[in-house]
Amino acid sequence: MVSIYDTEAMDAVRRRNTVQPHRMKLFRNALFKKACGWGEALATLPERAQADFDQSIGFECLEMAERHDSKIDGASKLIFKTPDQHLVESVVLRPKTGRTSICISSQVGCACYCSFCATGKMGFTRNLTAAEILDQVTQANRMVKPEGRTIRNVVFMGMGEPMLNLEHVFGAVSFLKAGPFHNLSGARITVSTVGIPHAMDRFTQEFPDVKLALSLHSARQEVREKLMPQARKYPLDQLRETLVAASARGKVMIEYLMLAGVNDREEDLKALEGYLRGIPVHINIIPFNEYAGSNLRGTPPPERKQFANRLKEAGFDTTLRYSLGSDIAAACGQLVQHKRKEAFA
Ligand code: SF4
Repeated sequence: MVSIYDTEAMDAVRRRNTVQPHRMKLFRNALFKKACGWGEALATLPERAQADFDQSIGFECLEMAERHDSKIDGASKLIFKTPDQHLVESVVLRPKTGRTSICISSQVGCACYCSFCATGKMGFTRNLTAAEILDQVTQANRMVKPEGRTIRNVVFMGMGEPMLNLEHVFGAVSFLKAGPFHNLSGARITVSTVGIPHAMDRFTQEFPDVKLALSLHSARQEVREKLMPQARKYPLDQLRETLVAASARGKVMIEYLMLAGVNDREEDLKALEGYLRGIPVHINIIPFNEYAGSNLRGTPPPERKQFANRLKEAGFDTTLRYSLGSDIAAACGQLVQHKRKEAFA
């Protein structure tokens, strides 16, 4: 089977069926821009070519195994099954104001073991391929089409650390941006990382227009090490140099998950202000979705708001985020972890 993303092999299929390039464009537009089903897309090709395309080309590589729609907001959690029977999650967000977004996974499990993350408790299984990363977007796009929606923002903030799967994440970002495929501008794509400096440097060189988000969560080395073991390898000083370089091409998003008694005190605020002072950043203050199996607790909303206000007063662009999909375990890895427990029970 030829992958739809293997452009050379696809061109060979096109040539042997003497399909004109403009018909290929219609075919790809049907799949990626109009979010049509496979049969509808095939119908855009000359009839004589349809059977060979149908038998030779692999379009979807994931199976959408489950869909959970939030009853309190516009979030949908999707569980996809890979061909080798692993589960990964994506979350579609439909904010009342703003564009339909998807948060996608880049790995099965994760090797970073962040203490606040359900995926971090699963360990690492394997990298997703570029096609598996892209398939989450393509299938979600088809899912939201009957609602008159299109996925407009793609965020690499699901399961896995994208900077530890550079080859496939680079491939996926290229296809998300490519005109004949998803045709998203770099400003509509965000790649989030725990902070792996050499990979962040490579990423910003390769995709200067794509947004970068750093999961900082603490500007105190000892606290950060407890939350994120990767911080031992890449200390805050080194990370700051990378941050300064990355922000030269535009603001870097700083993700700050607020955990009661862990990173929400006065000294945490002061450390954060000092660390980010002088760097063009946008800080997102994020609530923690508590889940069974974690003894961490989220900072209560009033204190969260106060923390955000103090950052604003100190001159930082800051957004206080609200939790979406709390009734469907929408935080990274929660539902798959639950499914795994069921499978092993
Ligand atoms: S927060 Fe991200 S990097 Fe950390 S364990 Fe979870 S998936 Fe991995």
